[in-house]
Formats: sequence, C-alpha cells, structure tokens
Amino acid sequence: MHSVLQSLQSLQEVDRDLFKVLVELKRLPEEEKRRKAALDKLLARAAELRNEAKVLRVKSKELDDRATIARQRLKKVDSEAMASRADQALLAAYDHERRTLKRDIGATEEEGLGLLEQVDVLEKQAVEAEAKSAAEQAIFSEFQQNMVKELAAANARRSELEARRKERMGEGLPADMLALYARVLSTREGEALAQLDGRTCGACFMEVPTNMVVRVSRGADLVQCPSCDRILYI
Ligand SMILES: [Zn+2]
Repeated sequence: MHSVLQSLQSLQEVDRDLFKVLVELKRLPEEEKRRKAALDKLLARAAELRNEAKVLRVKSKELDDRATIARQRLKKVDSEAMASRADQALLAAYDHERRTLKRDIGATEEEGLGLLEQVDVLEKQAVEAEAKSAAEQAIFSEFQQNMVKELAAANARRSELEARRKERMGEGLPADMLALYARVLSTREGEALAQLDGRTCGACFMEVPTNMVVRVSRGADLVQCPSCDRILYI
C-alpha cells in the first residue's frame, strides 16, 4: 500500500496542475458564451430602439399628412362658405365643419409633435446603445483573440501534463484505487491526497480518529479523511 500511496502522490503532483488546466479549458468557452450573450443583448436593444424610433416617425408622418389634408379641406370649406353666404343653414353646417376641422388639426399637430419628441429621445438612446455596443464589441473581439491564444497554450500544457501522467501511471495501480483517487480528485478540485500532521488532516485541518491514524501508518488500505474524503498519507 505504501507503494500505491507513493504512486498516487506522484500522480497528484501532475494532476494538481492538470486539474487547473482542465478548469481553464472549460472556463474560457463558457466565459465567451456569457460575454457573447451580453453583447447580443446590447445589440438587440440598440436595434429595438432604432426600430421604435422608426415606427414612431412613420406615425408622426401620417399625422402630418392628416393635418395637411384637414387644412386643405378647411380652405375649401372657407371658400365654399364665402360662396354660399346667403344660405343660413348651409353656413351653419360649414361653420360646424370648420370648428371640427380646426379642432382636429390642433389635436393632430399636438399628437405629431409629441411623437417627434419621443422619436428624439429614442434616437438619442439608440445612439448611446450603439456606441456602447461598439465599445463592447471591441472588448469582446480582444477577449476572443486572447482566448484563442490561451486555449492553445492550455491545450499544449494539457498534452504535456497528460504525457507526464502516462509515464507515472505505469506502476500498476489497482483500478478500484485509481477510481477512488479520480473521484476525490474531481470532488476536491484537484487535491485528492492529504498529509496527516499528527492526528490532523493537512487539507481540512480536522482531527482524525486514532484508529484511522494507525491504519494510515500501517498502510494496509487507503484511508479517507472522514471530513473531506481525501486519501490520507503520512
Ligand atoms: Zn480532511
């Protein structure tokens, strides 16, 4: 068992670094995804603001046209009223239409102006959102370029560590013990072994029962720390 523990210690030296490299290889693409989603959200927001402004501008143009038609109609009503000055009933009808038209024109123009103010605000917000998107896009591109380099370096390091690991594996470790080691390595983030310092686990600093200490020093089996699960050695 001492030789098994020695082999595991020898593996642990490599696996500690390998674990970090694997974490990095996983983290970078995840970060890219997260950054990309944030950037897409910004771009979508900017496009949305542009579109809202466009829709309102079209609406305000429609109101403008409506006011123009109403003004033309008002002119016509004015001249028709002039022409039929004698007919009181007709005059009253024209008068009524004129008031209605004027009210309509006023309301339409006011609504149109309100819309234009909203368009102004939206376009300003769109410009800001676009500037922010562009800045974030530049940061993202830089991140991607660095990421490619970092991934390449991490992959090279991974190959190197895996080769070194292979060399150290050639010592006939029993499969069940290796599986236990691998399991603890994964749950304990790259540190599967812990050195006993007297009765204290060197990783989690909890006290280990005396009979366990005896078992570790006897070295007949692999003993795990009852608190942190790591495989203990002296
Ligand atoms: Zn422990």
